[in-house]
Amino acid sequence: MAAPSKETRETVYARDGHRCVACGSYLLTFQHRRAVGMGGSKNLPAPVDGLALCAICNAGCEGGMQAQALRYGWKVRAWVTNPERVPVFYPREMRWCRLEGTYRVPITYSVAMEMGCSVYGREWLDWHEAVIV
Ligand SMILES: [Zn+2]
Repeated sequence: MAAPSKETRETVYARDGHRCVACGSYLLTFQHRRAVGMGGSKNLPAPVDGLALCAICNAGCEGGMQAQALRYGWKVRAWVTNPERVPVFYPREMRWCRLEGTYRVPITYSVAMEMGCSVYGREWLDWHEAVIV
């Protein structure tokens, strides 16, 4: 996927409160929620494709934080065609949101689980049972 436009980048940073969603840092990078495939897509990412993360957490989504990134919707599987359907967890606010256009809308845990299941099915439940138990 191509780099986001300046406007999309700024929209995502504003939506996420100008802080790294994971650790709260003010030094932001644009996290591509959908993996950038080999050869890449020429499509410009939309705000729902992005998340405000610092460089360390952004790199972590491809490394040691990958399981958490999938569980929290910071990253979505490459085959997910509509990342709006995967909710995002904001740990510093302890709440789930769904991304809609340039906004984020707080949702309940139950709605977040329903949304995640509708995309990932059993896999989503497995990720979250592992946390709840
Ligand atoms: Zn961070």
